[in-house]
Amino acid sequence: MNAITLLVELQNMDMRSDENTVLRAATEKSLADTADLNAARAVFAQSDTRTTELKAQLRSLELETQGLAEKIKQVNERLYSGRITNAKELAGLNQDEKMLQRRKRELEDHELALMEQIEAADNLAAAKRAALETISAQTNARHDKDRAALLALDALDAALAHKRAGLRAQLDANTLRVYDTLRVTKKGRAVAPMKNSSCSACGFAVPSGLASRLKTRSELVYCVNCERILAPSGSRCPCWTIPPKPTRRRKTRSCWR
Ligand SMILES: [Zn+2]
Repeated sequence: MNAITLLVELQNMDMRSDENTVLRAATEKSLADTADLNAARAVFAQSDTRTTELKAQLRSLELETQGLAEKIKQVNERLYSGRITNAKELAGLNQDEKMLQRRKRELEDHELALMEQIEAADNLAAAKRAALETISAQTNARHDKDRAALLALDALDAALAHKRAGLRAQLDANTLRVYDTLRVTKKGRAVAPMKNSSCSACGFAVPSGLASRLKTRSELVYCVNCERILAPSGSRCPCWTIPPKPTRRRKTRSCWR
């Protein structure tokens, strides 16, 4: 292969490698992203805490009600024991019994209201738990997919590195220096195949003299406008050279076809 063909192939590999780097960063970000899961956990924890608090309030009320029932029982025992004959004392006990009964009814009403609140809170917590389980399963599935994608990227990067090293070994140091410099200064695209007699990178019409020199492939020819290395039209675009062999052709951001 002549230098320009090698450079086109090398750039295809390098551009694919650049895309992999972007893809890897996005995949790693997705793998680290648990925002939805954390939010669902927080929502469930909040509803679960609310249910626990309401149940604790109910237990407290039930204990208080039991205490009142015990007191009422004691007052009634004294009232109807026959031991108390003092009318004033009896009237006082009667009054106490009525007051205790009133308070007990208030507590029981409160208990009923709390039970309704607990039922609603339980239902809400169950719904939030179901939502959490769904999001958890979705997150796990996404992370499994991300891990598989990273493994595939590792394999692809290794294949690309091997191919790139093989191509670079066939190019002389000066050509590689020019190519590497242009890759840095021209946003990763050092070589621009011609398209319809123009530079495919900047669209500048290539003078016929330059185009003729390019056909001989004996020297590097540069676009007079963007200064990239020109390659003959029909040079393979990265979308044609994805290793391993793609199941279908893929248009890339930098596709020049
Ligand atoms: Zn150009």
